[in-house]
Amino acid sequence: MSNCVFCRIVAGEVPAEVLFANDYVVTILDINPIHYGHALVIPRKHVRGFLELEPDCYAPLLDAAKTVSAALVDALNLEGYNLFSNNGRIAGQSVFHFHLHITPRYENDDIRFVLKLKKYNDGEMKQYADRIRQNIKHA
Ligand SMILES: [Zn+2]
Repeated sequence: MSNCVFCRIVAGEVPAEVLFANDYVVTILDINPIHYGHALVIPRKHVRGFLELEPDCYAPLLDAAKTVSAALVDALNLEGYNLFSNNGRIAGQSVFHFHLHITPRYENDDIRFVLKLKKYNDGEMKQYADRIRQNIKHA
């Protein structure tokens, strides 16, 4: 038996409110929602994070995210939603089985992502871009 709670949900060993499932993904309601209807799109295959996803999972993940986002918009009359993934403990990942979050948003919902935006100094933006471009590896 896996000690990964999402693997156990995928295997049907742990109950969850499943919204949508196919051969590649299971989409459930988050048990601790940021807002009611907060959903998680989980690949059936255990991978720790985004960089470990297999290419055959890309399209099914986004298809499921779009299908469930549309259902959330219609069912809960959303004014918007956030689609995101936390990768690594420092980024807020708490279950180390990759998943996408879909979080309902409304006017005055009192949900805030606290950001302290930075400014690049002269030439610094190009330096960052150059470092990143030098590490782009084509699939
Ligand atoms: Zn897992």
